[in-house]
Amino acid sequence: MAKMIESAASRAQTPFKNEPVIDFTKPENRQAQMEALEQVKRELGQTYPLIIGGKKITSGSTFASVNPSQPDQVIGYFTRATVEQAGEAVKVAAAFETWKHVPAKERAGYLFSAADLLKQRRFYVDAWMIYEVGKSWPEADADTAEAIDFLEFYAREMVRLAGEQPVVHIESEDSELVYIPLGVGAVIPPWNFPAAIMVGMTSASFVTGNTVVLKPASTSPMIAWQFMRILEDIGLPAGVVNFLTGSGSTIGDALIEHPLVRFIAFTGSRDVGLRINELAAKPYKGQIWLKRAILEMGGKDAVVVDETADLDAAADGIVASAFGFQGQKCSAGSRAIIVEPVYDQVLQKVIEKTKRLTVGDVTKPETYMGPVVDENAMKKITGFIEIGKQEGRLVVGGGHHGPGYFIEPTVIADVDPHARIAQEEIFGPVLAVIKAKDFDDAMHIANDTEYGLTGSLYSRDQQRIERAKEEYHVGNLYFNRKSTGALVGVHPFGGFNMSGTDSKAGGRDYLLLFTQAKAISAKKA
Ligand code: NDP
Repeated sequence: MAKMIESAASRAQTPFKNEPVIDFTKPENRQAQMEALEQVKRELGQTYPLIIGGKKITSGSTFASVNPSQPDQVIGYFTRATVEQAGEAVKVAAAFETWKHVPAKERAGYLFSAADLLKQRRFYVDAWMIYEVGKSWPEADADTAEAIDFLEFYAREMVRLAGEQPVVHIESEDSELVYIPLGVGAVIPPWNFPAAIMVGMTSASFVTGNTVVLKPASTSPMIAWQFMRILEDIGLPAGVVNFLTGSGSTIGDALIEHPLVRFIAFTGSRDVGLRINELAAKPYKGQIWLKRAILEMGGKDAVVVDETADLDAAADGIVASAFGFQGQKCSAGSRAIIVEPVYDQVLQKVIEKTKRLTVGDVTKPETYMGPVVDENAMKKITGFIEIGKQEGRLVVGGGHHGPGYFIEPTVIADVDPHARIAQEEIFGPVLAVIKAKDFDDAMHIANDTEYGLTGSLYSRDQQRIERAKEEYHVGNLYFNRKSTGALVGVHPFGGFNMSGTDSKAGGRDYLLLFTQAKAISAKKA
């Protein structure tokens, strides 16, 4: 272990750099991705256990994770954990006291090793994502690259936090401040960044010395399984991360209400986040702490365009923000707010660019959009399209086709800022285009939702940009670029209002959420 500590310590001193995405125009990369897709195809349909304290448990019933492009194709069968097993997983995690005494640099070393292995398995993990959630090649690869970034970033951050912290020194005492772990964390990620967010929340939890019960989203358990394999292969002690698949609505409460759970790291929808917030606020029998709830929730993000903007760039940004990964990003720009003088012009450009997007088979590298994640998503989104047809003017798309859950990129123009499709998170490829009288009106409309996650402004007017820095109330604000594509370290991520607790994942403040600080002072002799 001394070697691991030494190597982690020296690697932590090297500057963090974002992992480059794979260039799929290169024939060797296309070939490698094709081969990985073939390999994954041969591995489809197996059954996977829970992992509690290193024990693999396959008892009980299973549920299928299916390919949304082809719902009769089973990705894998996963074990449906019971409420009792959820309790057991928490108890095992709580009993694992030795982990918090493992030196921080050694814990960071596990993250570096996991990053290395994930880099080696890059095409393979991308392939699983293409099959399991219908990501296009570049979207899947960006997700894996972000997962690698989180591992690399949090490893360095842990080493920083384990170092001497600045406190004011007085003559009569020796003082220090150390960050110690919280305890057991329930980690509950969404399916839409099945690698990045799952890896990010889980690794932040255990690198800080906590133990984890990881309950992946039921539509993307395979990606979490692949991460568990990596953790096993790098020799992370059994019991540090416990793997509990099953429906959130069945086992979620048992996890959140468990008196031995100290914190919950959740990313997902507003409604589930609110429920977790409420349940976590109550003390349960035997509980001796306030539970910490780290909650990252939905968005209704806007791309604002004023009359000074580069209109082509703005239209490109609107389309990429609205339709990347089928609009299933919390940062998706689902509202385009365009000032009246350039409204028709920008709308026309958006229509033309949207018509050029390809929807279909994501195992082919040239496909831009795949299916939405499941039947429920399909029903919800097509329901919103029907509402949208009443609330505005359908100018592109609106259709859907099977047998997978394919929905055309849909643009609805002339939408009132208070219409349902302009206020509620649809989480699909539906863009509401809203006309603003002028820049003031556009800013007002942009802020006039209950969310506050990301926002973009396309403008060449420096004074307006300065104003937007003050007035645009979002956690991640972008100028003259799309609203999606936050990079670890560069754009610490998290939103305001109903978008959550603004945890700023991938930033210097993030790991503090998984620790508590102890101030220690000794009177000098
Ligand atoms: P959900 O809220 O449906 O699910 C998120 C996770 O919560 C899943 O693991 C789910 O499990 C679990 N869950 C569901 N019900 C409960 C419950 N009662 N108690 C405990 N856990 C529960 O969100 P989605 O997975 O559909 O993700 C999409 C949402 O995530 C969007 O709203 C999006 O904006 C948001 N998001 C926010 C981000 C941010 O940083 N702010 C980033 C990415 C996404 P199961 O799958 O078994 O139901």
